[in-house]
Amino acid sequence: MQKKELQKKLDPMTYHVTQEQGTEPAFTGKYWKEHADGSYYCSVCGQKLFESDTKFDSGTGWPSFDKAVPSSVEMHQDEHYGMKRTEVSCSKCGAHLGHLFDDGPKATTGQRFCINSCSLNLKLKSKK
Ligand code: FE
Repeated sequence: MQKKELQKKLDPMTYHVTQEQGTEPAFTGKYWKEHADGSYYCSVCGQKLFESDTKFDSGTGWPSFDKAVPSSVEMHQDEHYGMKRTEVSCSKCGAHLGHLFDDGPKATTGQRFCINSCSLNLKLKSKK
């Protein structure tokens, strides 16, 4: 999608985060304290990225997951701001999602995907 179309489609914070490697302020996003059952999709292209049963409370103010849906995300080295971090992006559209750290829950993967709420859209699991 062209830059102009994306600017029209996405709100300013979502554009900044997903297209300019931005970060939403902690404790401001819509999903950091979300606990509902469902799946989280890329807010730009709609690819499924995370499942709610891999989400945990990290205390950081950003949605945190210990696992991504297989092959839905790509990792890159990010050395912005003098920090060596692992950037996480959508494997389909390249949208910036957040960063991956190795201080996640030891009982599961030990990984912490620290993701911006505005990079995600939650679709609730339909109740049957
Ligand atoms: Fe995407």
